[in-house]
Amino acid sequence: MVAETAAVDTRNSEWDSWRWQLSNSITTLDALKDHINITPEEEEVFRKVGEKYVFRVTPYYLSLIDKKDPNDPVRLQAIPNIKELDDVFHIDQLASFHRSGVDSENPLWKEGKTEVSCIVHRYPDRVLFHITNLCAIYCRHCSRKVRAGRNAIVSNRDLIDKGIAYIAERPEIRDVLLSGGDPLMMGDNKIEYALSRLRHLPHVQIIRIGTRTPVTMPQRITPEFCQMIKKYHPIWINTHFNHPNEVTPEAKLAIERLLEAGVPVGNQSVLLKGINDSVEVMKELVHKLLMARVRPYYLYHADLVRGAEHFRTSINTGLHIIESLRGHTTGFAVPQYVICTPLGKTPLNPNYLIGSGPGYITLRNYEWRTWKDPDRLD
Ligand code: SF4
Repeated sequence: MVAETAAVDTRNSEWDSWRWQLSNSITTLDALKDHINITPEEEEVFRKVGEKYVFRVTPYYLSLIDKKDPNDPVRLQAIPNIKELDDVFHIDQLASFHRSGVDSENPLWKEGKTEVSCIVHRYPDRVLFHITNLCAIYCRHCSRKVRAGRNAIVSNRDLIDKGIAYIAERPEIRDVLLSGGDPLMMGDNKIEYALSRLRHLPHVQIIRIGTRTPVTMPQRITPEFCQMIKKYHPIWINTHFNHPNEVTPEAKLAIERLLEAGVPVGNQSVLLKGINDSVEVMKELVHKLLMARVRPYYLYHADLVRGAEHFRTSINTGLHIIESLRGHTTGFAVPQYVICTPLGKTPLNPNYLIGSGPGYITLRNYEWRTWKDPDRLD
C-alpha cells in the first residue's frame, strides 16, 4: 500500500520563473516521493539506477504526470526504470559485428570528434557545438545519458572562444547547431555572447539551437530571451516533443513567443516503445504540433545507447507509423523517419516505387492502388 502524495503545486507565485523551476527541480528520491507515488520496489530501482545515471525533473514536467498511472508517457521519460540496467544485448552485438571502433556506451560519439572538445564536425558544411552538458530534465531515453549532467559543464568563455576559433578557421562551415545538454540552461548573456561571436563570421549562414526546454521547462522562453535572440537571425530552433500530453498551454505559449520573434520551430521526436510507438499517439502528436505551428521534422529511431535500449522498437514499427500517416494526413505533418549510425543520419521510408520496366515505372499510393508512369530511358 502506497500513501497518497500531494499533487505538484502549480499555483506557486514563482511557477512561471525558469530560475525557480531550476532551483526547485527534483533530484532526489525523497523529494520525488513528495510528489508522486513510488512503490518500495521502485525505491530500490531508483537507488540502483541512480548510481549510474543522473536524475532530475522540473516541477513543471513532473506536474504533467498522471501519478496514478505507472505507464504514464511523461513518467516513463522522466523516472528511472530498472530496465536501464538490463540493456546489454544489441550494443554488445553491434560491437561484435564491427570488432573495433564502437564506443561501449554509445556508438555514435566517436564520429566527428575534433581536437576541440565542444565541437563535433561530421559533415563538411556544419558543426555541432556542445555548449553545456546540463539539461532541465535528464530524459531516460537520452542518447547522451552517460554524459548529460555528469560533472556539470557549462561552457565558460574560454571554451566558447575555442569553439568559435575552430569555426572561424573553416570557411566551409555555413551551419552551426548549438546543442548540449541543453543550451538554454545557460543564461541569456552567455547565449548572446556565443551568438554575437558567431554572427561576426561571414561564412556562418544559419544558427540552429536544439533545446527541449519548450517541453520540459517552457518558462525558459521568456520575452527577454526572444528579444535577444531576434537580433541574430536567421536562427532556427528544433525541440523535442514525444507525446501529445506534452503539448500544453505553457508549451504553446513558449512556441508562440519564439514564432513571434521570427524563429521557425521544428520538432524532432524519438520513437519510444510504450510512449509513442502507435499510429494513434503519433497522429495525435503531429496534429497537435501543427495546431501549435510546429513542423514535425524528424522521427528518430531510438539510438543504440546503453541504458536506453529498452525504448528501442523494431524498424518495422517506425515504417508502419510513417506508412499510416503518409496520405492519411497533411503532408507536412509527416516527419522524416531516420536512423543514426556512426556513418550519419539515414532516412527510412516505406517504398512507393514498386516496379519498373523499359520506359516505365510502377508506383503505388497510400491505399495500395498502383499506377504505371512513363519514364525516360536515358
Ligand atoms: S533534454 Fe535532450 S540532451 Fe537533455 S537529457 Fe533530454 S534528450 Fe538528452
